[in-house]
Amino acid sequence: MLPGTARGFVGDMRLAAFLALALAGAALSPAIAAECANPDAIGTSRTIVVDPTEHPRVGSFQYAESIPLNAREIVLTLDDGPRPKGTADVLDILAAECIKATYFIIGRNAREFPDLLKRVQAAGHTIGTHTQNHPLFLDRAAPARIEKEVQDGIASVESVLGPGSAAPFVRIPGLLRSDSAEAYLASKGLMLWSTDVVAHDWKRSINEAGIVRRAIDRLEAKGNRGILLLHDIHPRTVAALPLLLRELKRRGYRFVHVTPATPDNPKTPTEPEQWVFKEPQRTVLPMLTLSDLRDLNTNLIEQIQMSGVDFCGNKKGSALFHRASSKRLAAKQRAGARRVAARHSD
Ligand SMILES: [Zn+2]
Repeated sequence: MLPGTARGFVGDMRLAAFLALALAGAALSPAIAAECANPDAIGTSRTIVVDPTEHPRVGSFQYAESIPLNAREIVLTLDDGPRPKGTADVLDILAAECIKATYFIIGRNAREFPDLLKRVQAAGHTIGTHTQNHPLFLDRAAPARIEKEVQDGIASVESVLGPGSAAPFVRIPGLLRSDSAEAYLASKGLMLWSTDVVAHDWKRSINEAGIVRRAIDRLEAKGNRGILLLHDIHPRTVAALPLLLRELKRRGYRFVHVTPATPDNPKTPTEPEQWVFKEPQRTVLPMLTLSDLRDLNTNLIEQIQMSGVDFCGNKKGSALFHRASSKRLAAKQRAGARRVAARHSD
């Protein structure tokens, strides 16, 4: 079991009520239901159509806005493909679970493995681009280099899939943004995708359980929603994905498909504030002052003296009994305060 999976009765009741609502909502999407042959699939609950010119940058990892998701909604994004090691397996897993994702394709991979890219398109996923060569220095690159990488990446995808096949969605390799990259993409009507959550699936030291745990923990930390960034080119991601999807389904998450607005595909009506990513409120622990600690220690010492049992459970009178003394503690505290004062007077 993953950390944090234990639920109280109230939590279970809330989840049951939530799932009932989710199922009722799913019943309203017969087109989506009809496309999915697997009755146990996690599925794609809805599609959001977005206008990149209105929202040029998304992903709370770096930006104020993100895709306007409700609680327990995820947008799955997959970077760096297509590659023989991984892309086909991930496509099979997503097909079995009826999930539509957004791919960020590397141009040179598209040219090298065109049939795999065609499979991504045929499965109905959104196809964004991730530059031509995946350079990890675009934050320091000249505008001309940024433009070439972006445009070559799009051209490579469209050389395989046809003109206009690439969505106007771009993710910069390594999320290494720059002012000039952002300005260029916005000037071309290209939506720059950062992310809300990463699961470190690119790290060699990580295993499947580590990927699943990071994805779940970080989605929860973001208020149980967000864009999730994974890579469909790593065997460890392929191994983690079924476990992750099972766990997400168990927790009541749903997947949302994002597509770009076109004249035939109008944007989903949203309010501007829905795009502003609000970090969930965290419980703030009260700040402890030195005087709080002194009071706490004094209280503990008084309790030991009164009870006749020390911190380790040794009884008064035994050889091991810790002789707590409020006088000794006070002397130590005075010495500590003198040391602090001396440091500050240097
Ligand atoms: Zn990448």
